[in-house]
This record gives sequence, C-alpha cells and structure tokens, in this order.
Amino acid sequence: MYVIRPFDPWRSPMCTCPKKYVLHPYTGCGHGCLYCYASSYIRNFFDPRPKKALKDYLVKDLEKLPPGAIIEMSTSSDPYTPPEADLKIAREAIREILKRGFKLLITTKSSLVLRDLDLLARFRDRVVVAITITTLDNRVASLLEPGAPPPEVRLRVVNALSRSGIPTLVRLDPIVPYVNDDYTSIAKLVEGASLAGAFQITSSTYKARADSLKRLVEAFPQVYTEIVEAYRAGEKICGYTYLRRDKRLEYMKIVRELALRAGVAFNTCRERFPELASRGFNCDGSSLIGRSSVTEV
Ligand code: SF4
Repeated sequence: MYVIRPFDPWRSPMCTCPKKYVLHPYTGCGHGCLYCYASSYIRNFFDPRPKKALKDYLVKDLEKLPPGAIIEMSTSSDPYTPPEADLKIAREAIREILKRGFKLLITTKSSLVLRDLDLLARFRDRVVVAITITTLDNRVASLLEPGAPPPEVRLRVVNALSRSGIPTLVRLDPIVPYVNDDYTSIAKLVEGASLAGAFQITSSTYKARADSLKRLVEAFPQVYTEIVEAYRAGEKICGYTYLRRDKRLEYMKIVRELALRAGVAFNTCRERFPELASRGFNCDGSSLIGRSSVTEV
C-alpha cells in the first residue's frame, strides 16, 4: 500500500488502539505544537507538504482494505493543517473513504473541519471527530500550539459537530507538567468539553524527546528547571522519556474523576492505565462510531 498503512506506533506496548489504518494527506504540519512527537523523525516537519497524487494512490489502497475497516486521519499530522484550506485534498480523501463504506476517525485542532460538515454529517454513523484541546488559557495555548486556532474556537467546533449528530471526543493530550497541569484549568476544560457535547475525554502526559523538550523549556523559561527535573526523574519507554509512573497516574486520575463527574467517558493514550478506562470506550474514540449526539452549549 502507498498512502494507507496499518497503524503501528513503533509496535509500542503502551498503545491500546484497536486494529485500524492510518492516512496522512500531508507530510508535516503547520500547527507547530511545541510538544509534537512527529517532528523528531520527519524532516522539516513544521512545513507541511501535500502527498503527491494522493487520490490515485488512495483509491488503489482502499481497494485492498477489508470492508468496513477503520481509517484514522491522522495520527502524525493534522489533516486540516493550514494548506488544506486551499488544496482540499483531505476533503477529497474523506469523500473517497466514506463513499466506500469505511469508518473514519478524524483527529484535528482546526476549525477547518467544519468546512466539511456536509460530508461528515451525511455519513455521521461512520464518523468520529477528536478535537485536541490542551488548555482553555489563550496565552498558554498560543505559546504551546502557535499555529492552531484558539481553544474557545475548538470548543465551538466540538459543539457544532455534536449538534450535527457527529460523535466527538476531546483529547486533553498531552498534559505538560507546570505548563497546562493546573487543576482548575483542567476542570474548566473538561466541563467545557462536556457542555459542548463531547462523549469522551482522552488524556495523556507529555513524553519527552530532545527536540520537543528544548522547544518547551525555551518557550516557558520560568519553569525550565521544574520541567527538566520532572523528566530527569522519569523513565525511558520506547525511546521517549515519560514522567514517573506515580506522577502520570496522579494526572490521569484527576482528569478521569473530572470527566466522570461531568458525565463523559474517559480513557488514556499510551499511558497503560487500563484500569482507568471507562468500560467500552476505546482510547481513540473508535467505540463512538454509530453514536449520535445532539447537544447545545
Ligand atoms: S497538530 Fe499534531 S501533528 Fe500538528 S504540530 Fe501539533 S501535535 Fe504535531
């Protein structure tokens, strides 16, 4: 296959995703998130490039997939990265995927997903959209995710999708210690996600790589020492430096408690705390396929 691949995050034992396939219409991403993992293994990552002849390859690849397979757009880039506003290749891919009966997970930070609401709503029984929101604090978000829309815009996207009957989940992903880990701020975010109509919160802690850690401490110099110390005390897992297990568990328990209190399901991403997951809710939102939601803020 050329552009669709089985999802295999480096065969990480930390991943709990069900069997699925992944499509990246673009190489790289313009949202420029400081914590981005993909920038450590893809050159010029923050300069997004469209995949060449995407539609031709996509159609060939789709013919080889099992009927009804789950395809995620995308796991190592954002399908609605800025050039998509003009190029519309993600939209074209969505159309090709859905008209053939496949199931689609979209993960994005961009309000551009609402441009394709007509298409997504038509196939709402086979679509789930995950919107990543790491904080509702505009100042922190503008430093952490400089190329992405502000958090309140993303919450409005969750609401618009939910009102159109498209199941949504919010990814509080990742929590970076000393940057977006304030309890009150997390509580507001979870409450906002619930009011906007999200069915589920999926959360994780930041896993350090040399390049992303450097970006983070440069952008938040006032907590440089605390962040560096937290990861110095952490553990190496599959090429990443995780926070200490007890610290990660503490963060995930906080988000879980707030999510359940707000009436939404909870799961974690690459943390390996299966005991915290709401029963029947996969980490990636695939178990939301087929649910519809109509909620107003
Ligand atoms: S939106 Fe995702 S892929 Fe794009 S820069 Fe941010 S973390 Fe990386």
